[in-house]
Amino acid sequence: MAVIGIDPKYTSQGCSRCGHTEKANRHQHYFLCKACGYELHADLNASRNIRLRGVLARQALCQDAALSCIA
Ligand SMILES: [Zn+2]
Repeated sequence: MAVIGIDPKYTSQGCSRCGHTEKANRHQHYFLCKACGYELHADLNASRNIRLRGVLARQALCQDAALSCIA
């Protein structure tokens, strides 16, 4: 079982729709993307980013190991 480390540094500032990351996106508990205008609760946006990163990290790991991974 692989443990995947995810850097949470920019999850609260990055848009979970278009990926645009900017400090000004975050307004305390509220997220508004400067690039695409996407708006939602900041914690919800961050949790979506973390989930998305986990999926991408696992895919990269599977390709590197050249093994079939169980999703
Ligand atoms: Zn956006």
